[in-house]
Amino acid sequence: MESFEIETGGRTEFVDITDRVRSAAVRSGKKRGCVFVYVPHTTAGITINEHADPDVADDIRRTLDRLVPWDGPYRHCEGNAAAHVKASLLGHCAVVPLEGGALALGTWQGIFFAEFDGPRRRRVLVQVIGE
Ligand code: ZN
Repeated sequence: MESFEIETGGRTEFVDITDRVRSAAVRSGKKRGCVFVYVPHTTAGITINEHADPDVADDIRRTLDRLVPWDGPYRHCEGNAAAHVKASLLGHCAVVPLEGGALALGTWQGIFFAEFDGPRRRRVLVQVIGE
């Protein structure tokens, strides 16, 4: 299992982690299987979407902000209920097939870490499963 840290700078932020996940896959030396990417946090998530145009990630971020406003009403007393809801909407992991030692992402796809309660120091786990 590999891991790396991310320092986020805003309350809501999408960070392209494709290159870091790809590096972990290459270091594993495995050629076939899959790469499991996991975020061990309750107010952050993972998603795969277009990373050629940065406006796409920004549109997702802005849409989530509209759908899940920071000021509730919510029952969770820490004041970050919106971040928990957004994290659950996106999910905490992604699985990417590994073909010939390379991530089998589509031409426009990238892997994003999604911060919903930053700025914070976050951790991402990467497990390459295969042979
Ligand atoms: Zn909370």
